[in-house]
Amino acid sequence: MAGLFDGKVALVTGGGSGIGRATALFYARDGAKVVVGDIVQTGADETAARIQAAGGQATSLIGDVASPEYCQALVDHAVKTFGRLDFAFNNAGISGDQKPTADYSLESWNKVISINLSSVFYGMRAQIPAMLKTGGGSIVNMSSILGQVAFASSAGYVAAKHGVVGLTKTAALEYSAQGIRVNVVGPGFIKTPLISALEQNQDTYNMLVSLHPIGRLGEAEEVAELVVWLCSPKASFVSGAYIPVDGGYLTR
Ligand code: NAD
Repeated sequence: MAGLFDGKVALVTGGGSGIGRATALFYARDGAKVVVGDIVQTGADETAARIQAAGGQATSLIGDVASPEYCQALVDHAVKTFGRLDFAFNNAGISGDQKPTADYSLESWNKVISINLSSVFYGMRAQIPAMLKTGGGSIVNMSSILGQVAFASSAGYVAAKHGVVGLTKTAALEYSAQGIRVNVVGPGFIKTPLISALEQNQDTYNMLVSLHPIGRLGEAEEVAELVVWLCSPKASFVSGAYIPVDGGYLTR
């Protein structure tokens, strides 16, 4: 059966775990060839192996998205290996310090801003020229509900995720007419290793659940479906949009 993404090539950062892995698997499920980026070799290799085991094509490239050179290398790797780049999901991220602003360490601030925000700029800077060469593409950036509202003790994370929304809108304004749609997703709390520490404490877990009117936390696959939809022709008039996938978190 022909897939929606046959002949297309996708790149995912942070593709070795959680939401990035689920999205890499769905890109491949729908026919795309996938470049899996991650800083952790075992995670990226496992995602690529799962795609190959299911009959798809994938390759991994290890590196740190806080490095502009690595973000460029991911694009070069996609073009060299598969001939083009159609989709990019700038997803890699970390949580950082859990401390009030005055106690938030400079080290954590710089790290979170580099990995969660600057990486998206580095990524798009490399991805856009490659996509323009083949007539366009689709970029999805990873924000959060915390790209719209605050969360105490998370200054770096909240600032970075708000910044990703602004970067996305700017690129959409600049490149939509040239065939590149750029959008940003805003998940609520999703059950991945990123929040496993918060899940350990039952009271904290219950508090997090209570913030989602739907009455539970989300699954990585529920975010991945939105990302692949945004890349598909079904979303052909969607650009510059922040789309929550949050079980109703942002209703209040
Ligand atoms: P995860 O920890 O399961 O996956 C993150 C992946 O990014 C890991 O494989 C990790 O190795 C990789 N990574 C971390 N730093 C990197 C770096 N410097 N360079 C390259 N790769 C790096 O977490 P997840 O929940 O799947 O998170 C993915 C994205 O979703 C993050 O940007 C996160 O902020 C965002 N997000 C997560 C939630 C949630 O509740 N889980 C909610 C909203 C947004």
